[in-house]
Amino acid sequence: MAVKTKLLKALILGAPASGKGTISSRIVKKYNVEHLSSGDKLRDHIEKQSDLGKQVKQYLNEGKLVPDDVIINFMVTELKKINHKPWLLDGFPRTVTQAIALWKVQPVNVVLNLVVPYEVIIERVKNRWVHLPSGRVYNIGFNTPKIIGKDDITGEELIQRPDDKPEAVQKRLEIYKSVTQPVIDFYAGKGILKNFEGHTSDEIWPKVTSYLDPLFKVNN
Ligand code: AMP
Repeated sequence: MAVKTKLLKALILGAPASGKGTISSRIVKKYNVEHLSSGDKLRDHIEKQSDLGKQVKQYLNEGKLVPDDVIINFMVTELKKINHKPWLLDGFPRTVTQAIALWKVQPVNVVLNLVVPYEVIIERVKNRWVHLPSGRVYNIGFNTPKIIGKDDITGEELIQRPDDKPEAVQKRLEIYKSVTQPVIDFYAGKGILKNFEGHTSDEIWPKVTSYLDPLFKVNN
């Protein structure tokens, strides 16, 4: 497959657990773009117990948004490290304040919005278990571990990410509705928003590639 990459500055929106991570990693692989996930970056900092990690840990555990000034400074610095490569932002911006701040330093040119019904998301997250040391993720009923509650490779305990617990998910979806919906409206107003509807990533993925292939001039 020939992939000719133009300097795409893309961003992917979607409720928590709407499959943003899955779709993003497929985009990264197919179109060779740099992936910048604010959630992953913050979790790395928490893991490393850096100053930023200590500052944001409680917010993540409770499913609350990290303050705008903290995340804007952090993500703008991270973006500046990517030179002359197309990128895909994931998880940032999440508020209109963040979107405006990003627009000032770096206007994006494509916004992909994943639209998955909330009841599908709640069911999906309830069944998600992770092996923390390796990051392996299991989904009961979809890729179920051989022994329930244990990692296939090491046999160690699986846990639910603190922000995957039902109370935290509910909170994250409420925040998404009230705070992030205006971000969608912000980009719709700029004429660069594209919606992709579906229940699963496999249903959404072909729609995403039909949209992106012409932008990347992919010859399959
Ligand atoms: P995610 O993995 O994208 O769902 O992010 C996990 C958590 O990181 C969120 O629930 C927030 O606590 C924090 N976070 C990630 N991105 C942002 C952002 N753009 N603004 C504020 N908080 C964020």
